[in-house]
Amino acid sequence: MNIPIAKPYLGIEEETAAAEAIRSGWVSQGPKVKEFEEMFALYVGAKYAVATTSCTTALHAALVVSGISTGDEVIVPSLSFIATANSVVHAGAIPVFADIDPDTCNVTVETIEKIITKKTKAVMPVHQMGLPVDLNQIMDLCKKRGLVLIEDAACAIGSEYRGKKIGGHGNIACFSFHPRKIITTGEGGMITTDNQVIAERLRRFRHHGMSVSDIERHTADKVIIEMYPEIGYNYRMTDIQAAIGIEQLKRLLFIIKRRRQISDLYNTELRKIPCLKVPKIPDYAFPNYQSYWVELLDTSPVSRDDLMRRLLKKGIATRRGIMAIHMEECYKKYYVPLPGVEHVTKNTILLPLYPTMTVEEQAYVIQCIKEVLQ
Ligand SMILES: *Cc1c(COP(=O)(O)O)cnc(C)c1O
Repeated sequence: MNIPIAKPYLGIEEETAAAEAIRSGWVSQGPKVKEFEEMFALYVGAKYAVATTSCTTALHAALVVSGISTGDEVIVPSLSFIATANSVVHAGAIPVFADIDPDTCNVTVETIEKIITKKTKAVMPVHQMGLPVDLNQIMDLCKKRGLVLIEDAACAIGSEYRGKKIGGHGNIACFSFHPRKIITTGEGGMITTDNQVIAERLRRFRHHGMSVSDIERHTADKVIIEMYPEIGYNYRMTDIQAAIGIEQLKRLLFIIKRRRQISDLYNTELRKIPCLKVPKIPDYAFPNYQSYWVELLDTSPVSRDDLMRRLLKKGIATRRGIMAIHMEECYKKYYVPLPGVEHVTKNTILLPLYPTMTVEEQAYVIQCIKEVLQ
């Protein structure tokens, strides 16, 4: 068997939609992006959605339009993909790394509150691997301390916090459509917000700071001379990508159902292995299982990396647990000891999970893990 860690779920519908966008002659940001944004906002329960080229550029745009700039401190988890912290640096600000609760792999109100200083301007919690943070507590803290809250929801489309989808809680939230996430447009991102002023600024910011959209100019019956009230970026999604995204959104219900079924079986079977700790899901969370992780306890007969090597020999791809940004060379000057993060990054492993994974494939993965660990 040859089992990958992940596989995007794409079909003939995406192929046809992309071809139609090409045939329409409108390939850059246009009517399909607008349609994708409207569908996305409706799906998560936000008033506005603004598409971008990636979640990284979405986070950067969100920070800048929220007024974050040079010298401001932004609290982020260290246990995250490096783009979380990079976006803060792109905005000229300073990432300050928070520890996590090893049970959820997420920051908590306590780990955030501990590192707030006079320079702190924003908090950027991550719903790691699609498991929502305890959002209400963090929202209360940000309100009390006057801090901007931006959710890094790269992995969290379709996840729910207290019965409401991530993106629908009134904050700015940023999503990713990289193939490693739940749905994909090749590359791509989306920002959701309930704030009209923020949404309008985001639309300008991703469009070179231009005062009119290409749709408005194209469909106008009189000449429009555009203006540039501020300096922006080119963070525009293409209509070809958005056409694919629209088809992907239609599959989301099925994708999440499958991911949860597969994760449930992993939970049931792997819980039986004494040296493994399966994810602990808090009552407030309905995760989409963007990734499935397990922790290797001290009693394991092999190291985490040995387990990965032995599984790869059997044709099973795995990944180390989520990285610890503060331990990377390029963030050396921001290093602080973070015991929760350092423990999780060293002792967890991500297992294969994708909607088309067969019963036989999963049984084989579970069998091989049992063979190595028992
Ligand atoms: C993947 C990821 C990103 C970056 O997303 P891109 O769309 O690839 O830019 C940011 N934050 C987190 C938590 C991620 O997992």
